[in-house]
Amino acid sequence: MQLATLRELYVDELRDLYSAENQILKALPKMAKAASSAHLKNAFQEHLEQTKGHVQRLDKIFDELGARAKGKKCRAMEGLIEEGKELLEKDVEPDVLDAGLIAAAQKVEHYEMAGYGCVRTYAKLLGDDQSAELLQETLNEEGETDEKLTELAESTINLKAMHDGQSDEEQKQEIETVGT
Ligand code: FE
Ligand code: FE
Repeated sequence: MQLATLRELYVDELRDLYSAENQILKALPKMAKAASSAHLKNAFQEHLEQTKGHVQRLDKIFDELGARAKGKKCRAMEGLIEEGKELLEKDVEPDVLDAGLIAAAQKVEHYEMAGYGCVRTYAKLLGDDQSAELLQETLNEEGETDEKLTELAESTINLKAMHDGQSDEEQKQEIETVGT
């Protein structure tokens, strides 16, 4: 496909995101199932619901444009999800797995944030303010999810993962050292 105009690039990038979101829709339930932390499970389930909304917003934009949503496979998302799957196939301590799932999910969110930031900007340039607004809403939700994952990781999950594999004695020592 030849891309001669910014509008064509805009549609191409929207298709990339459409494919990415649909791949995430399939991956998120598996990630929620694999997570041990109830908070992390919830975060994935909540984002699954948001992701359904992201697809709907894209459907609406494609309708307005009179363009087909399908026709592109987002290889980057395919790769990110593939890496996440590799983690699930390994023998990983549950808390370490949770930390790894957060890392995988944050890579996905950052990919989406980059994509939505670009198409939001193109939509504005092309005078498509309504779509720009919808894309900004999705961008905000991806950003909020990323922040929520950081908070979960930093407040509990990374710390639990750090303690996996340590003996009680080592953990006690560490707490004592931190306490001094
Ligand atoms: Fe999304
Ligand atoms: Fe997302």
